[in-house]
Amino acid sequence: MRWISASTGFMTALPKLHQQALAALAALLLLAAFLPSSDDAISSTPLSLDHLIDTDAPLFETPTFSIRQLKAPWTFDQVPVNETLLVPALGQGNGYQYIVRKGDTLSKIFERLQLPQKTMYQLLEADLNVLALDNLKPGHTLVFDKQDQKLQRLELQFSLAHKVVYQRKEGDGFEFNEVQLEGEWKQKLISGEILYSFTGSGKQAGLSQWEAQTITELLKKRVDFRRDIQRGDKFEVLLSRQYVDNEATGNNKIEAIRIKNRRHNINAFLFEDNYYDEKGRNLEKAFQRYPFNGKYRLSSNFNPRRRHPVTGLIRPHNGTDFAMRKGSPVVTTGDGIVSRVVRHKYAGLYIEIKHGQSYKTRYLHLNKSYVVKGQRVKRGQKIAQSGNTGRSTGAHLHFELHVNGRPVNAMTAKIPIAVSLTGKKKAAFQRQLKDYLARIETPKAKQQLALSAEKPDTKTKETTL
Ligand SMILES: [Zn+2]
Repeated sequence: MRWISASTGFMTALPKLHQQALAALAALLLLAAFLPSSDDAISSTPLSLDHLIDTDAPLFETPTFSIRQLKAPWTFDQVPVNETLLVPALGQGNGYQYIVRKGDTLSKIFERLQLPQKTMYQLLEADLNVLALDNLKPGHTLVFDKQDQKLQRLELQFSLAHKVVYQRKEGDGFEFNEVQLEGEWKQKLISGEILYSFTGSGKQAGLSQWEAQTITELLKKRVDFRRDIQRGDKFEVLLSRQYVDNEATGNNKIEAIRIKNRRHNINAFLFEDNYYDEKGRNLEKAFQRYPFNGKYRLSSNFNPRRRHPVTGLIRPHNGTDFAMRKGSPVVTTGDGIVSRVVRHKYAGLYIEIKHGQSYKTRYLHLNKSYVVKGQRVKRGQKIAQSGNTGRSTGAHLHFELHVNGRPVNAMTAKIPIAVSLTGKKKAAFQRQLKDYLARIETPKAKQQLALSAEKPDTKTKETTL
């Protein structure tokens, strides 16, 4: 297994398919995290400088990292290592790992580890370009590497397959490096029969909560799950799950869905980051290009290779800036669910919105937010007032579009258009569709997929009515 690393233009070293897969999954996982689960749906995120760590339940099993035997007594300044908080990390040199706990904040962790606040701010500054430290959740692992009384390196491990590394550079700042592990993707077919609800029956057949929710979210415009889906309807879901050294990383993607209703089949097939029905019609809603109505001057372009003019450190500009007077209305560029409303020392007040499985947008340096975390928004809906918060040299809006976890140039990216596939694309889709259908429908393929299922206890349960 090899770690593939690529600064700034991360994931470029991965084969395209894997990039898409991995990123689709990351997006899926995030989406799942933000799908409102009944009572906690509309809870406003407190705005605080004290970097909050989301205390939602972890999305997947906490990955386990092997612990190297301690060779000599070691302390992180005065913090004794025998505290379970901090243990030596395998293969990390002088690295010591800390597992994020419920109720932690980044500053609490730094305080506990007796690391200067200045270092935390330097990290947050480097992190402005990825905002990965804002994604910390209980169960994530931080590996601290300290030499010459200074933190030299911080590694944030999101999963067995995904980490972000902050490395100290001369000039007293940090540069980040996002690392994705390719791993191995195993396909699995989950099929079953609906007893009471799709979510319940799906879970019984082996879908996770978020997989079931993601499917209902995706198909909700085509089918009324309460009215149209009946007891006895059958479903098939083709999934891919990622493994590293035979351990599940928690990264999954839904590739094909079929619900066999008495009247008709309801289908969704993943093709180039979007879902289509059997006729190649896009199931996802279109985006608009600009995060506002009217015209504003583009003041700074997307530039993943930008260097800081003074320090020379790589400081990618992962978004597009528009000169906007403080208080100008900002709108969301697509339908989605608000996944974050956060106040950041450098990004200022910012909003992040998840749009389906593959897309995410961010709006930085805002003056005021009109939305809260968990809220559903419609394309073109006013979500905020632009501003000049955080590190900003003048009133402007910094707008980002991410596709499969990767920032792209929002001004030139191929954004989803809710139309049917045509020409070469359609032919490519049809080839992919044939492959999906063979896996869903052929008894032999079904059998093989069932055999390769990683957990026998999650095998299909045939429900007799
Ligand atoms: Zn900007």
